[in-house]
Amino acid sequence: MDSPRILVLGSINMDLVVRSEKLPMPGETLLGHELRQIPGGKGANQAVAAARLGAGVTMVGRVGDDGFAAQLKHELIVNNVDAERVATTDNYSSGVAFINVDDEGQNCITVIPGANSQLSCADVRAHQSAFDNVDLLMLQLEVPLETVVEAIEIAQSNAIPVLLDPAPAPRHFPPEILQVDFLCPNEIEARNLSGLPVNDVTSAVKCAKILQSRGASNVIITMGDQGVVMCDNTGHCEHCPAFSVDAVDSTAAGDAFAAAFGIGVAEGNTLQDAVHFGCAAGAVATSRVGAQPAMPTRSDISALMSLRQS
Ligand code: ADP
Repeated sequence: MDSPRILVLGSINMDLVVRSEKLPMPGETLLGHELRQIPGGKGANQAVAAARLGAGVTMVGRVGDDGFAAQLKHELIVNNVDAERVATTDNYSSGVAFINVDDEGQNCITVIPGANSQLSCADVRAHQSAFDNVDLLMLQLEVPLETVVEAIEIAQSNAIPVLLDPAPAPRHFPPEILQVDFLCPNEIEARNLSGLPVNDVTSAVKCAKILQSRGASNVIITMGDQGVVMCDNTGHCEHCPAFSVDAVDSTAAGDAFAAAFGIGVAEGNTLQDAVHFGCAAGAVATSRVGAQPAMPTRSDISALMSLRQS
């Protein structure tokens, strides 16, 4: 088939990663080892991941009127994401994540939503033509919830399947956000959305069934190195174990998974095959540092999948 066309509506952030021996205490000043400036934001990560895997990707989002904005848009464009619908928001910073990491790998993160907080329902309506001829809408929750709900409604009225990666998951949310074709939380998000702790395959299946009873068609719970539990809309559930890799940085594993899984379904593959493809993408992402730079290509994924088959 032709390459799938994916619309991603969501956040665009600059990740500022500060490495130091230990995390600073309140009032303390430390000398750190390095500062890295890495394009991120769940929406942009998923857009870049989907484009690297060969999809035609359009992104709807907002950046600020600061020095990061041009770099963030440039990163989308060089990865073949159509960024024409990424708007500049006056008097706002771009979204920024300040990530402190110590030598043990522990981190503290402060996210400033900045311009992402200004992506509005009116923006979604203004970009209604972006929903034409799209195979899948991909959403996350780093932009206002009402904006996400508006996008879900427009997609549904155009019979476009919706994949929601409900990250970060709020404890209070409009019920519409669960009423999507593919809901892909990690364990913590699954707990926040269902109220049920998820720590193994059995509890993940229970949680997925609860989320399905609240309107999600297919629920796919990602569980880090425990892989994925998927419950489809026929009631069938199964576990896909994680691929074995040397994990160095779990940043954006979930974004790589969501994009690859989304492409798998948009290409008409079975859910099992799409989950398998997504697991391989998540595993590759954990074997590299950073968010967008860590997103795999199709040949990275094929190489890992062929190791499991051999
Ligand atoms: P998130 O980044 O949203 O917390 P996860 O950590 O669950 O998402 O990762 C998404 C998927 O990536 C997992 O379901 C798994 O398939 C893969 N993955 C994540 N961590 C590892 C790991 N350490 N080894 C192998 N695969 C991993």
